[in-house]
Amino acid sequence: MTSAPSEPSVAPAVDPDCVFCRIVAGEIPSDRVHEDERVIAFRDLHPQAPLHVLVVPRVHSRDVRELAADPELLAHVVEVAGSVAAEHARGDFRLVFNTGESAGQTVFHVHAHVLAGELAEGEL
Ligand code: 5GP
Ligand code: ZN
Repeated sequence: MTSAPSEPSVAPAVDPDCVFCRIVAGEIPSDRVHEDERVIAFRDLHPQAPLHVLVVPRVHSRDVRELAADPELLAHVVEVAGSVAAEHARGDFRLVFNTGESAGQTVFHVHAHVLAGELAEGEL
């Protein structure tokens, strides 16, 4: 009797073609300002404001619409954004989730942009 190879019952948490999965895994370096068991936060490569940090869940999902299926994780992203802005800026911040290609999303692993201070030209 042959047995079929076991299939994962859920989508894999890590996508080897996803740049943010590779940053989470440490395969691509990043300037991390926070990490815990559920999210990491690191400085954007092309900052649009004096503080521009991305808060990224470790588990891959496409965008904030998918992330909303896990309200606790979504709330944790917002909490981490607040603590990053408190620690690295004056506390107030903008929180941006570009969602979908025509809205400017270029990395399809959900991330929150935390922006504090004056925005650069061509703001998000
Ligand atoms: P999106 O356009 O998808 O909302 O945002 C993607 C963001 O990720 C952009 O602001 C871009 O500068 C940033 N980004 C893309 N690749 C890297 C990377 O390898 N390292 C870091 N630190 N930021 C990245
Ligand atoms: Zn990913």
